Amino acid sequence: MKEKIGFIGLGIMGKPMAKNLVHAGYTLYVFSSGAASMQELEKKGAIGASSPKEIAELSDIIITMLPDSPQVKEVAFGNGGLMEGLSRDKLFIDMSTIDAATEIEIHERFAAVGVETMDAPVSGGDVGAKSGSLSIMAGGSETAFKRALPLFQILGKKINHIGSTGAGQIAKSCNQIATALATQGVIEAFSLAASAGIDLAKLKEVLSGGFADSRTLAVSGERMIKRDFSPGFKLKLYTKDLRIAKQAAAERSVNLPGTQLLHNEMQQLVSEGKGELDFSALIHLFENN
Ligand code: NAD
Repeated sequence: MKEKIGFIGLGIMGKPMAKNLVHAGYTLYVFSSGAASMQELEKKGAIGASSPKEIAELSDIIITMLPDSPQVKEVAFGNGGLMEGLSRDKLFIDMSTIDAATEIEIHERFAAVGVETMDAPVSGGDVGAKSGSLSIMAGGSETAFKRALPLFQILGKKINHIGSTGAGQIAKSCNQIATALATQGVIEAFSLAASAGIDLAKLKEVLSGGFADSRTLAVSGERMIKRDFSPGFKLKLYTKDLRIAKQAAAERSVNLPGTQLLHNEMQQLVSEGKGELDFSALIHLFENN
């Protein structure tokens, strides 16, 4: 018999991921702070729940896809939270991007009631969430990973068990550092080209296929050219990810000068009210100069 799944957080990423689990034939209980997305999932065959507590009572495996650590902690330990409904042998999988220290705290508190946990953040964006081709970076025990694997295989294509609890989140920070700095590279190249009167679409074409080619150039570069800043991946969430990466690096005395610079720039745009835009809107910084 298939395990019953609970899914919390039906946003840009969570909604298509939850839909893929329903399509795969799982009994899926859903909860999210947005009523519209709950209704959309119910129309697809999911069952709406009234609280994380109820999700924990009804499900064998609980997945969260929430913005940041405070929301994951609230869902886990707040009033009507998971902790109130959990019992032995359930599995909790957090697929949000949050800090590793919070994952370790959750792991310890849930372990005390016999519940295993995995941190399993993803990359691949809304496109990967819709097509079930996410890259999944898992942290936790081997037994938890084996139990989660059938679900991961529906949600993703590249699935890696990185290490113990928190290791998935560290790998995700590495991913965010590399992609953020690649984005900065595309933006600086576009800035110079624009100042010289070069057509950006032509520049993108010529950069594609050489060493400058990247998913960032293909996806974010295209958005910059088309001026399509609808999210995608919200700038405020990317800013949060670089904060987490900086924190992880500081805890280990690792110096990240490029990440620091880009984080400052992102914070500036968020303070100007651009946090809900796709992160490719970072190009605004250079256009304002
Ligand atoms: P989002 O803001 O679109 O969705 C978050 C969802 O969580 C919303 O539906 C919101 O209503 C719900 N929510 C918030 N607080 C809640 C609470 N306390 N209880 C119940 N529901 C709550 O964000 P997203 O883009 O789907 O991102 C989710 C996570 O995935 C983030 O950690 C993000 O960094 C990560 N991520 C996003 C992308 C992307 O391209 N969007 C890619 C990889 C990873």
